[in-house]
Order: sequence, then structure tokens, then C-alpha cells
Amino acid sequence: MITFEGLEKEYRTKDKTFKALNGINLTIEKGEIFGVIGFSGAGKSTLIRCVNFLEKPTGGRVLVDGQDLLTLTPANIRKVKRNIGMVFQHFNLLQSKTVFANIAMPLVLEGAPKKQIKQRVEELLKFVGLSDKAGAYPEQLSGGQKQRVGIARALATQPSILLCDEATSALDPQTTGSILKLLKKINAEYKITILMITHEMSVIRDVCDKVAVIEGGEIIESGTVFDIFSNP
Ligand code: ADP
Ligand code: ADP
Repeated sequence: MITFEGLEKEYRTKDKTFKALNGINLTIEKGEIFGVIGFSGAGKSTLIRCVNFLEKPTGGRVLVDGQDLLTLTPANIRKVKRNIGMVFQHFNLLQSKTVFANIAMPLVLEGAPKKQIKQRVEELLKFVGLSDKAGAYPEQLSGGQKQRVGIARALATQPSILLCDEATSALDPQTTGSILKLLKKINAEYKITILMITHEMSVIRDVCDKVAVIEGGEIIESGTVFDIFSNP
């Protein structure tokens, strides 16, 4: 479960401050696919980045499974980070590494045994349908295949939360559909909570259980997708 309590984020530059988030209150329940939708500049990236320690809130709190991220010890931060996978709009794959090595990266970084890494990566390759691409390099893959690698990497440490930052925005509609289907499968089979940010209404409509609309750093509406979309 992820809870935002009065979350604020102010960016300070030399001559001015800018409030990107202004008192966000939201609860994302275990097992949900929750979408946050808003125009560019609304604060979506800032919001998601406060969950995985890429940004530090300047007010309020973010709780993951009841733990306030600001009060964690370094050892606990590592543990929580491991529990949160992230998928990026532009995939963020290492171009000089094979598909296998990209997916293995989070496990290599934590010093997992070779045999265990091999087993987990093969399992993930199969899950995302890329078993025949283990030795390929990112530049040899289509956009959809690259995103499948990004998703497999995000799942390597068996997280219970998956954050998706415009995960389908760089893909054509058909590929978007197949990636959304994969995300649904991950949610259903692994019971992973998914928090996704997007500017695309169709993405929310196709996969999310709940949705929040963000504008100018504030949530202006939230509820089930059914409720929000059936409201005139
Ligand atoms: P979104 O993801 O919805 O496009 P962002 O969270 O990226 O929105 O940005 C929200 C607002 O905060 C924007 O106006 C953006 O210009 C500003 N912002 C984001 N990052 C920074 C930063 N590092 N320094 C100053 N302003 C920033
Ligand atoms: P983007 O511009 O796509 O949103 P970010 O600025 O969020 O990318 O991330 C910067 C870099 O940090 C990325 O290249 C990514 O590889 C790395 N990174 C950030 N968060 C994570 C994470 N949770 N897991 C793995 N890599 C991460």
C-alpha cells in the first residue's frame, strides 16, 4: 500500500521556488492498478519520484506499507527500494549490455549468486516473451521489446510495487496494447500493485481500477475509473 499524506514538493532554484506538488492525499491499495493522469507539468513525475527516493518531499509524507520513507534507516531504504520496480518512458536500458545483462542488473548490483541470477532472468525472459532475445542488444529490438526488457528488469528483485512513468507513451497504439496486457498479467499473476502516470486517457480506461486527476500539483478528482468516466 502507498499513502501520500499532504505531500508537498517545492523546487528551489537560485532566484525562485516552485511548488510542483501542493498537498497530495491519496491511498493506493495493495493489488490495485492505479493511474494518475494529468497534462505535462502537472506534477506526475515528481509524485512518482517521491515514491522511489529520486525526489525528497519538502512537506507531508509518503508511506509504503505503513513506513514513512523519510524516517527509514539506510538499510531499510535498500529493502524498500528492492520492493519497488520502475518502468520508464524511454526504457533506460544500457545500450552496451545484452538483454540478459540488462535484466540481471539489479540482481548483479546486490551481489546475488550467479546461478540464482541465471534462473531468475530466464524465468523473466519467458514471462515477457523474449526468451529468444537473451543475447541481443537493445538497438536490435523494437520499442515494445525494449519495454518488455525494461519491465523484466523492474521485476528482477520480485517487488510488490511497480511504478510506471509514461510506460507506453513512446509506443504505437498496437504495441501500447500489448504492453498494457502484460502489465495486467503482472498485476493478476504476481499480485503486484501498479502505480502508473500517464497523459493518455485510453491507458487509464484500458487497465486501471482507480484514477486520480492531477492539475497544478493538486489532485482535483479521484475515484474508480468507472465513476470518473461515467460522470459527465
Ligand atoms: P509532469 O510529470 O506532470 O509533466 P513534473 O513533475 O515533471 O510534471 O513537473 C511539475 C512541475 O515542476 C513542472 O512545472 C516542472 O517544470 C517543475 N519541475 C520539475 N522538476 C524540476 C526541477 N528539478 N527544478 C525545478 N522545477 C522542476
Ligand atoms: P526519466 O527521464 O526516464 O524519467 P529518471 O530521471 O527518472 O529517468 O532516472 C534517471 C536515471 O536513474 C535513469 O537512467 C535510470 O536508469 C536510473 N534509475 C532511477 N530510478 C531507478 C530505479 N528505481 N531502478 C533502476 N534505475 C533507476
